[in-house]
Amino acid sequence: MISKLAIILSLSIPAVSFAEKKVPTKAPDAAPKDDVVALTNDPIVGKADRIDGDEAKNVVAFTFDDGPNPSTTPAVIDALQKYDIPATFFIVTQRITGKSGERSRELLQRELAAGFGIGSHSVTHPNLRAANARTLEKEIDGSIRTLAGQIGKPVGVFRAPYGALGPAGRARLKKLGLTEAFWSVDTLDWQAKNSERLRKKVRTMIVKQDGGVVLMHDVKPITAKIIADVFDDLEVENCARLAAKDPKKEPIIPVSIHYFLKDGKTARAIPEDVKKRTEAYKLALPGRCAKRPSPPVAPPTSPAPTPTPPTPAPPTPAESPRK
Ligand SMILES: [Zn+2]
Repeated sequence: MISKLAIILSLSIPAVSFAEKKVPTKAPDAAPKDDVVALTNDPIVGKADRIDGDEAKNVVAFTFDDGPNPSTTPAVIDALQKYDIPATFFIVTQRITGKSGERSRELLQRELAAGFGIGSHSVTHPNLRAANARTLEKEIDGSIRTLAGQIGKPVGVFRAPYGALGPAGRARLKKLGLTEAFWSVDTLDWQAKNSERLRKKVRTMIVKQDGGVVLMHDVKPITAKIIADVFDDLEVENCARLAAKDPKKEPIIPVSIHYFLKDGKTARAIPEDVKKRTEAYKLALPGRCAKRPSPPVAPPTSPAPTPTPPTPAPPTPAESPRK
């Protein structure tokens, strides 16, 4: 896979730059070069309308920006794997180039091998809201070249740094066939100081909004520290919902970003393998709940207990520390 792309890259880049020598400077909004268009050609997640995060309910897609960071990203990957949670990593590609990028490149490969989604988050993480054509090309097309070369397949999603993109940036994404990925659950983890408060906040936001697209940063030590607890909190919440059997409060299932893709107002069809993964998670959830150290309280519909023997009442269960 990688070698095929490497060939495309190595063949097309010199050819293009050679051609450019003969032609006067390109217009500022020049069409993307063919090699980049090939590298964004992802029919599954690409070419969709902007993801806002409010497209689906009772599902939650975790996304992690700005990485990889060798000191914090491994904990995030470990937690995702422990709780069997899909995620998308939006990569700042200057982190995966050069000699200093070696460990980050290994982490990217680990993310890929584990089946996580990979998107671009620019080369150097600038604010692109008022960026000119040259900067947009450098940051968007440039990051795609690096990232697609590394992962050995096209990149279909882009998240603008700070979510900041003007009309020219949006037009560039459209030309490239890149889906812009925004979010609906802004945890502000990058500025959080208190880990317990952040943890509670993430849980509250996800529960209040019945899921959505969660924005976090795998480069932040505070996020690496609490992320396993965040997933545990979600599991606790889902086990409680499962036990309560309230049709209005179904579990909030962790899913990949596919569930938030839309073309116009139409939700994009979920690929079979993605559907299977979600179904497998749902099927496994009762088992995960049963194995939890403090099982959820019995549903209110359970029959009254048989006459109590003349023993003192059992101590009331301690309140869950996660409340
Ligand atoms: Zn960012």
